[in-house]
Amino acid sequence: MKGAAVQQNDPDITLITPVAPVATSTHGGRAKCLQRLVRLDLPVPKTVALSFDAVHRIAAGETLDTQDLLKPFGPSALVCVRPSSEDPDWGGPGAVLNIGMNDALYVELCDQLGQDAASAMYLRFVQAYAIHVARLDPDMFDDVPSDGPEGLSEALRAYEDETEESFPQDPAVQLAEVLRSMARAWEGTTARLLRQAKGAPADAGLGLVVQEMALGMGLGECGSGVIQLVNSKTGEPQITGRYLSQSQGRDALSKGAGAMFLGRDERGPSLQELEPEAYDALIDHTRLMRVRLREEMQAEFTIENGHVHLLDGVRVARSARAAVRIAISLAEDGIIPKEEALTRIEPRAINELLHRQVDPEAERDRLVQGIAASPGAATGRIVFSAAEAQASAARGEACILVRRETSPEDIRGMHAAVGVLTERGGITSHAAVIGRGMGLPCVVGASALTFNLRRSVLRAPDGREFRAGDIITIDGTNGEVLVGEPEMLEATQDDAFLTLMGWADEHRDIGVRANADTPADAKTARNFGAQGIGLCRTEHMFFEADRLTVMREMIFADGVGDRRAALDRLLPMQREDFAELFRIMQGQPVCIRLFDPPLHEFLPSDRAGHRELAEALDLPLSDVTRRVEDLSEYNPMLGMRGVRLGITMPEIYEMQARAIFEATIEASRDGDPVVPEIMIPLVSAKREVELVKTRVDAIAAAVRNETGVTFAYRLGVMVETPRAALRAAEIAPHCAFLSFGTNDLTQMTYGLSRDDAGRFMSTYVQQGVYPEDPFHVLDVDGVGELLSIGAARGRGAHPGLTLSICGEHGGNPESIAFCRAEGFSYVSCSPFRVPVARLAAAQLAVRDKMQFPVAK
Ligand code: PEP
Ligand code: MG
Repeated sequence: MKGAAVQQNDPDITLITPVAPVATSTHGGRAKCLQRLVRLDLPVPKTVALSFDAVHRIAAGETLDTQDLLKPFGPSALVCVRPSSEDPDWGGPGAVLNIGMNDALYVELCDQLGQDAASAMYLRFVQAYAIHVARLDPDMFDDVPSDGPEGLSEALRAYEDETEESFPQDPAVQLAEVLRSMARAWEGTTARLLRQAKGAPADAGLGLVVQEMALGMGLGECGSGVIQLVNSKTGEPQITGRYLSQSQGRDALSKGAGAMFLGRDERGPSLQELEPEAYDALIDHTRLMRVRLREEMQAEFTIENGHVHLLDGVRVARSARAAVRIAISLAEDGIIPKEEALTRIEPRAINELLHRQVDPEAERDRLVQGIAASPGAATGRIVFSAAEAQASAARGEACILVRRETSPEDIRGMHAAVGVLTERGGITSHAAVIGRGMGLPCVVGASALTFNLRRSVLRAPDGREFRAGDIITIDGTNGEVLVGEPEMLEATQDDAFLTLMGWADEHRDIGVRANADTPADAKTARNFGAQGIGLCRTEHMFFEADRLTVMREMIFADGVGDRRAALDRLLPMQREDFAELFRIMQGQPVCIRLFDPPLHEFLPSDRAGHRELAEALDLPLSDVTRRVEDLSEYNPMLGMRGVRLGITMPEIYEMQARAIFEATIEASRDGDPVVPEIMIPLVSAKREVELVKTRVDAIAAAVRNETGVTFAYRLGVMVETPRAALRAAEIAPHCAFLSFGTNDLTQMTYGLSRDDAGRFMSTYVQQGVYPEDPFHVLDVDGVGELLSIGAARGRGAHPGLTLSICGEHGGNPESIAFCRAEGFSYVSCSPFRVPVARLAAAQLAVRDKMQFPVAK
């Protein structure tokens, strides 16, 4: 490769000028950013950019005329080389500074800058070269003094001893070797895997920039530092950074001692006091970068005898909370349009604002990695049962409920706990679904922990044991289980967040509802801006202590008469539940799903529970045990549940329909008119819908007759079996809406148990059998095809049909894109995911409509 092209704007090796052919996609983000700074006439040292192609060829062994490459920098110049990957988050090899340093220049610089400065610079280069280029063990410098001429001569001697060669003196050779080693480091397997884990494509390229050193050391005020105009945690305006006299690179941040504040500060000396003009220039430069690069930037700078040089600019690192405030303030200052501000926030990052989080800077003693099932972090003492959780809550002690897996019996324990950890289960298991609904942090499928519940001991893979009362932290945002109590960041819904959500709603063109079962859920849903309830799982209302006994009486009833008697006692409770939901939602649609789970879920599973139940129902223990056995099924999720119960025990749905209609009348009397939606679960045949519809219509007519009040309602079908999707054309004419229950639909399409898939899902994903956990990210190829078929056939037979999704996928940005493209009216998801869904939906609409300018 020729270096003569440096002056000729060769796309492979070019001096960065305002017009040089430099692009992020060919030279990387750093090179492009430097060109933007050059265009702004900012004091950037002379820089040459090497393209991805050039670096790739260097890695492959091609040699570069580095003598030529060094020409633009003039004789005796020192340069540094920095990586420039397409996305700065993909990383790259560390920068190497002070290339060109040799014995002759050392003597010169000792005269010009003083011996200490010259020695420190040469030493830094020798060490970097030894470690990164000659690949020597960093430990070899452990005993070398870190500064001064002695340190330097010892380092040079150590280098020569190890390599049996003298330290290279020719700058062109030094540069060629540095470039070669950085190019090769990028192509190594570890580096590739690391960046792929951060989302980089397998063939991501690396550019390199060779930049003239602005020394930061020498006579007059010299030094280096880093500046940004906002606080990285909050996004609030705050001049942040440090400056260290007589230093290079990022030493001001890493070598805390002696580093000073930038602006005047009570805590110590500042650059503003030391060099006010340089400080003012820095602020001006960084402000200009913000406006012209349309981004909050961090600048790395050097001061040389009072003069400021900008070496580099990178996007300010930021928490989710800061990201929102930064985007909003860029838009409010007219720097970017509102629409672009919306697209600058990763929707999932919103989760971080709605839940407590482990402080990213806190130390983490990680015990094990599970599945991140419900976001947020919580610290508490370990408890192993729902009863202990309640006792702990009564004592005012925060606790983490640890179970093999949770069942409906654990609900009260879950309410009492601050977090839940389970050994089994996946993203749609009981603990996960309930946890997300309640906003309760939850980690499931932590199968690397050994659960010995009899001894009440948890054993970690590293052998550590934990007992009831020990303090752990679960991080439901990333699935980690941590020992002890790391620092937390509190949840905030600040003004910037609310502004962002308001802007999102101005653009969104698909509805967002919430899955909400209780008044508390419904209130959360409203607070988070849901446009109604898309799924109310009524069975969750039966787990309250007072109802559970009546429910069990109903299950144990000997005949229809006894069953009706028990249901009559449940009726007023259900009526009140529904009336309250209607009141909270203030006329917004509320979709109530008729009873769905297998009845045995309401029965105790152990002997002590059976005995208690026998007592409560005044029955012999043997009767209870026999009845529980009778109800047990080999495959309950495919057994007597959903509409199958509604057909075989019609009294249950009749009671629920009556409760819904009476509550409708009650809530409409003193509030906005309510049009309830009633949804039939687990339908697989048209006749099921006909039978239930006839009964529900009859109850509606009876209630209208009895009360003399008219009301409307909408009946819908939950499409969660493949057959219902395929036969949508014959089902749709009997209903007002179809809502896709993608949890069961995924389970049945794959033949994959949603409660057991956690055991092998990670192996399956790691080995590429599934690209993602299909319970987490909608499988658009298979399950998605069923959704498309169901939607098309349903609409074909019933043009006004409302379509929606109410499985857990409803809150997932990729699934929302699919549903929007299919023309669904709304998605429904856990209340805490509603803001994520609102933002994701807005981004889809905005991206369809516009293209944003890119800073040139
Ligand atoms: C579903 O199956 O997608 C659904 C929403 O219902 P559940 O999770 O209650 O089975
Ligand atoms: Mg279901």
